[in-house]
Amino acid sequence: MRQAGSADLVVKRAEAADLAVEGLGKSFLGRPVLAGIDLQVPSGSLLAILGASGGGKTTLLRLLCGFERADAGTIEVGGRRLVGRGLHVPAHRRRIGYVAQDGALFPHLTVAANVLFGLPRAARRQRHRAEALLDAVGLSAAFAGRQPHELSGGEQQRVSLARALAPGPALVLLDEPFSALDAALREETRTGVAAALAAAGATAVLVTHDQAEALSMGHQVGVLRGGRMVQVATPRTLYRQPADAALARFIGDAVLLPGEASGDAVICALGTLPLLARARGLVEVMIRPEQIRLAQDGLQGMVERSGFDGRDGLVLIRLVGADARVSARVPGYAVPSCGSVVRLKVDGPVLAYPAQSGTASI
Ligand code: ADP
Ligand code: MG
Repeated sequence: MRQAGSADLVVKRAEAADLAVEGLGKSFLGRPVLAGIDLQVPSGSLLAILGASGGGKTTLLRLLCGFERADAGTIEVGGRRLVGRGLHVPAHRRRIGYVAQDGALFPHLTVAANVLFGLPRAARRQRHRAEALLDAVGLSAAFAGRQPHELSGGEQQRVSLARALAPGPALVLLDEPFSALDAALREETRTGVAAALAAAGATAVLVTHDQAEALSMGHQVGVLRGGRMVQVATPRTLYRQPADAALARFIGDAVLLPGEASGDAVICALGTLPLLARARGLVEVMIRPEQIRLAQDGLQGMVERSGFDGRDGLVLIRLVGADARVSARVPGYAVPSCGSVVRLKVDGPVLAYPAQSGTASI
């Protein structure tokens, strides 16, 4: 620990606190929006929750911070129970910071006043404190005197995070914080915000409908579907081993082919492929398009459609001699034209689901 007088006094480090949620449920007008939600977020880590629009993401954050009352379940932060049977600790006593979707800065206040807004009156005049908080989110002291309308969207988001971090919260909640930003700014702001959260030692829950955002930011990623958490895993596990075929399609692009598994291998239109997890019988094989590579030899196919986004392209290929189409992700410089004949290889193990598991939709 650094000594008093250093930046620690100015930017309070969050008291590391874990989040534990059990059986959380909420209905609106008799319609369940969330049911049986269980979460374990270790202190200092970031859980990203991915879900379609209208899936209950904002509702979950509002339950956590106390703006909304739960119908069922418990919430504990750092072992302190905030929600349970007959218990609803009010929002202002939860020590939870909230970064709303649009940043929600006060337009008539300076950046410094916005950042210090949640602090006791005496602390609200301490410009050095605002500057230290801005520094923590990667903004220079020059921003302190500006008005929100003089900031870019990404800068506003960072100010909003600085404001949420100011009181040294036990938990920080972020509601689709980057959705209003353009692609270049989004990546930069993500990196800045992740670094600021890590430096503050904050436990955080971020909700988003953006797969890349969830996978790149979360230490763990949870997927919310139909009001339930269908899977919580590390980004790698979620991408490589999604719980079902619908989830595989939701988390990126997926090639799905019928096949027959025999333990550690599966036979399908792409040949005999090794399995990531053992399976037997009729299955649906899941292969990521980046596992399918154009090669000198291998299975023959014809290009039916070629997508191109600069960096790479998604190429739809009809396999010769089989009634199957697959998508291959190809580097942009090597995207073949429609109608050309190519040869394919598959890299790495693939996944198999029991046949017909892929009918559910996200
Ligand atoms: P998301 O943030 O994932 O887009 P929300 O949590 O905002 O989803 O909403 C989930 C569902 O709950 C939606 O169908 C929404 O219309 C409904 N809902 C949210 N808040 C209320 C409310 N206060 N009263 C009634 N219905 C609500
Ligand atoms: Mg929302």
